[in-house]
Amino acid sequence: MKLGAHTNPKHPLEEAEARGVEAVQVFLSNPQQWKAPLPRADADELKASGIDLYVHASYLMNLASPNNRVRIPSRKTLAHTVEAAAAIGAKGVIVHGGSVGADEDVEVGYERWRKALESFELTVPILVENTAGRGNSVMQDISHYGPLWDEIGEFNVGVCLDTCHTWAAGADMSTAVDLITGMVGGIALVHCNDSKDMAGSSRDRHENLGQGEIPADELIGVVKAADAPLILETPGDAESHREDLAWLRERL
Ligand SMILES: [Zn+2]
Repeated sequence: MKLGAHTNPKHPLEEAEARGVEAVQVFLSNPQQWKAPLPRADADELKASGIDLYVHASYLMNLASPNNRVRIPSRKTLAHTVEAAAAIGAKGVIVHGGSVGADEDVEVGYERWRKALESFELTVPILVENTAGRGNSVMQDISHYGPLWDEIGEFNVGVCLDTCHTWAAGADMSTAVDLITGMVGGIALVHCNDSKDMAGSSRDRHENLGQGEIPADELIGVVKAADAPLILETPGDAESHREDLAWLRERL
């Protein structure tokens, strides 16, 4: 199982070395802006490095939005992000499920996802991440992977399961991986985070491993069952990530 962390994007290989990990996740552009990623001078070096790179898409992106002025830029930004991710040899681009309008059924979100993925070539797998959110968010409920995959399963897609979001959404941690595997065949990536908040809180506040509300055995249970590469998105710098990794390795 490859372990990794979300890090500053400037020098991903140094960040990997500082943590002793084999995988790194980065943003390739400002996650709060629509701008397309700039070409990286170190693209070839990253590609040849042997470190597994994952790219997290912009937070503004909402492929399921009812609003054209959000949905269309989201598609275009994702297409640019996938291109930039391919240039560094990334293993996946992580995208949140997004949300439909307050008065809409989430099912329209699945169709909007399909239209988005029809609009460009997925040269890098898109990993759809579950979210902690409530009400109208498309992937707050992990059982939605089934109907979403009915629309997009034919494309180059996979599941990114976030342990904090799964917990915050109130899902049963002991059956989450089996449920998703039954619907889509497996988990491509785990975002391994503890949660500052209680189960079912719908709050998205990551915590360092063993410091939050998720019981250790439930967190480890998900990681083991998923049997997939793992990325920490926990607070702090390389030192706190090394502590999280030590906590993990002790229990795996
Ligand atoms: Zn995540």
